[in-house]
Amino acid sequence: MLFNILFPKLRFYSFALVLLSLLSFNIQEVEAQSDPLNIIVIGAHPDDCDLKSGGTAILWASMGHNVKFLSLTNGDAGHQSQGGGALAKRRRAEAQEAAKRFGIAEYEVLDNHDGELQPTLEVRLQVIRRIRTWKADIVILPRPNDYHPDHRNTGLVVQDAAYMVIVPNVASDTPPLTHNPVFLYSQDRFQKPNPFKPQITVNIDEVFQQKIEALDAHVSQFYEWLPWTNQQLDQVPTDLKERKQWLAKVWAPPISKEMRASLDKWYGSESAAKVKHAETFQVCEYGRQPTDEDILALFPMLGKR
Ligand SMILES: [Zn+2]
Repeated sequence: MLFNILFPKLRFYSFALVLLSLLSFNIQEVEAQSDPLNIIVIGAHPDDCDLKSGGTAILWASMGHNVKFLSLTNGDAGHQSQGGGALAKRRRAEAQEAAKRFGIAEYEVLDNHDGELQPTLEVRLQVIRRIRTWKADIVILPRPNDYHPDHRNTGLVVQDAAYMVIVPNVASDTPPLTHNPVFLYSQDRFQKPNPFKPQITVNIDEVFQQKIEALDAHVSQFYEWLPWTNQQLDQVPTDLKERKQWLAKVWAPPISKEMRASLDKWYGSESAAKVKHAETFQVCEYGRQPTDEDILALFPMLGKR
């Protein structure tokens, strides 16, 4: 009381001061959130990024972050009755349509031959320049153990770029990154020499249908070539709506015990138990090693719904 009598205006000033500091804290927070992340997903063929990271890409893009898909080959070998330049052109057009449906910023398809990708210095430099130009905070790549040599070599070549992206004298025509990005492996089922470890698992239930809509743009791949290789061509419905439903059934991989444990970590067990569709990533030992706090900043969708 005496304090109030002696300093009648002090309470008002301290209240105003607290209000102001709260306001500036919020502005800083908004600024930090509005700084978009740059994510580049690298695959071997025009559909690889889509399958493994498409749902997470939709979530990032819808939050205002910049997502680019990069296919290291043009897909000109993957078909039972078409090939060469005409097929490459078709695959490229399908990729552009998929990009629109995912809502991502860019889908680039390099003009390297499908089925013949080698982890050469030339391809490594192509990758280094793309990661730098995108100013990537996150690079997603396949692991270098896979049945397909293009997938395996994509894993190798991106790993080989992981340190070089910060070395100024390598590809000196493209400014190096000042900070090494976080490199993440997309999921695979291969057990040797070691199985994939789900460390960051994203609930994609909310966008699963949109992911299927986007995959549906790859007609030559999902309705022609892949069913042909699996002797399932006769199972593909001709009706456009029915074939999308078929796609959603075929390309909805189950959630493993390890993925569920990872969902528990990021969403809490109650929410995690309800998740039907998820995509998962493992931190590559090359590149920046993120803390859990870094991961929450890089995957702002974690913990939400
Ligand atoms: Zn592929």
